[in-house]
Amino acid sequence: MFAWVAAHEFLLIGLVWMVVLGPAIGNYACSVVYRLPRGKTPFERHPYCGHCNADLKPIDLAPIISWLSTRGKCRYCAGPVPGIYTVIEVACGAVFVAYFLKFGISEPFLLLTTYAVFTIILAAIHWQQGWIAATIYSYAFACVALARTLSEHSIYPTIKGAFLMLMLMLLLHRFSKQRHRSPFERPWIWWFVLLGALVPLNEWQLIAPVFLLKLLVPKDARVIVYATAALVLPLFV
Ligand SMILES: [Zn+2]
Repeated sequence: MFAWVAAHEFLLIGLVWMVVLGPAIGNYACSVVYRLPRGKTPFERHPYCGHCNADLKPIDLAPIISWLSTRGKCRYCAGPVPGIYTVIEVACGAVFVAYFLKFGISEPFLLLTTYAVFTIILAAIHWQQGWIAATIYSYAFACVALARTLSEHSIYPTIKGAFLMLMLMLLLHRFSKQRHRSPFERPWIWWFVLLGALVPLNEWQLIAPVFLLKLLVPKDARVIVYATAALVLPLFV
């Protein structure tokens, strides 16, 4: 037993770190999800309650634990804390653990976890507001482009993938029932372009199930499909 622990010391310490770090960063992601659509900058003020405006103390910020200890209510005004914030923290924790196991502590790990945090923020805002936050999208895209450029020593495959997917999606949009709407108002187009940039061309069969699920899943829940694909696919390409 001790021999096993000693042999896997780095792995175990790393895992403990990821379990703490992931949800803690997820906690910051929550404040971006709350503040960005309201036109506030994420770091202009300490975290506060969206209902009663009370400044939150460190105990209120402990990810997941604080939500469980107050059963999802504000400690000061008992206003409900949306469950999506806990989902964001859990998702960040899961991503940090999974990417650590796949990549170790490395450049791809740093770039892809950053990408994943932006993707989670993007998905949460899409879920709540129904639109794609352009700034967050461009950060996520830049992280993917950097990660792939590092491993492939060229930025062209990423640009080519994104461009080809955009053309395909615009073509699909052209023949869709809602073609009168601007493509910029169709979030699914941008999710698929992100997947096109993420997955190398010769592995695009991995994106096919996402298309299939888009057709099967109710409209409101599709963002869950896109976000899950965007977070899980880095483990397989
Ligand atoms: Zn409150």
